[in-house]
Amino acid sequence: MKIISNPLELQAEMKSQHKTIGFVPTMGALHEGHISLIKKARAQNELVVVSIFLNPTQFLKGEDLDSYPKRDDADKKICLLANVDVLFFPDKENMYTDDEVSLLAPKVRGFTLEGATRPGHFNGVLTVVMKLLNLVKPTRAYFGKKDAQQLNLITLMTRQLFMDVEIVPVDTMRDSDGLAKSSRNAYLSQDDRVQALKISKSLHEASKLVSRRVLNSKEIQKSMHEILKPLEVAYVEILNRDFEIIEEVEIGNSVILVEAIVANTRLLDNIWL
Ligand code: AMP
Repeated sequence: MKIISNPLELQAEMKSQHKTIGFVPTMGALHEGHISLIKKARAQNELVVVSIFLNPTQFLKGEDLDSYPKRDDADKKICLLANVDVLFFPDKENMYTDDEVSLLAPKVRGFTLEGATRPGHFNGVLTVVMKLLNLVKPTRAYFGKKDAQQLNLITLMTRQLFMDVEIVPVDTMRDSDGLAKSSRNAYLSQDDRVQALKISKSLHEASKLVSRRVLNSKEIQKSMHEILKPLEVAYVEILNRDFEIIEEVEIGNSVILVEAIVANTRLLDNIWL
């Protein structure tokens, strides 16, 4: 496995390759969710590139940029074991200057839901993903369905900016108790975890309701809010796959998203129905 920290060196390395390239961008503190993305990339491409970069521009002032979990040595071992060919591990100084061109997320999809609680977050996400895709020039790039709004916006960006890359969605990996795996779960105590489980339980309840043909969004949201009590809930929203609010679940074309705050940690989860 090659470890590269200089963006231009990475670009030269990628240019010399005449292979299909699968790319998995991450912010590190790798867990089974990330590994499932890497495995899918490994299965579908000749060369696999992973980036680990804690992107400062997607954190708002006062968020957890400085305390975000860091496990550089373990991450390198995980990548080695997962048969990654190139690990891109840049410094912030190599990725950004003081005065930058940047992307602006679209008004509706970029500034609602997580974009409403974290205004400007998706500008930073799109800008760094654009930089990374330009460096790696992958055939396919892999993103988790767990971050459904991010996945939606990145797919939209590649279409609207006519970028030559296939965005591949990957299912959410969960712990055995149902909690969606996340680097930020490291912030949770045992008690917090019990509280956090209400999130996946509320989504489970939603899918049970839908399987009983209860499709009305308000009814589903009400049951979910009951289960989520007493958590601070940022939103429970039912959307179609174009990210438009819908009054009734459309089976095969819907996603139910939850963001709740447990012990100051924002946790996201969703279910695709
Ligand atoms: P992050 O390091 O949190 O920026 O995540 C890097 C990628 O891994 C993103 O595409 C995430 O959506 C994806 N990811 C994070 N958690 C999971 C999970 N539990 N299951 C599947 N993919 C995930």
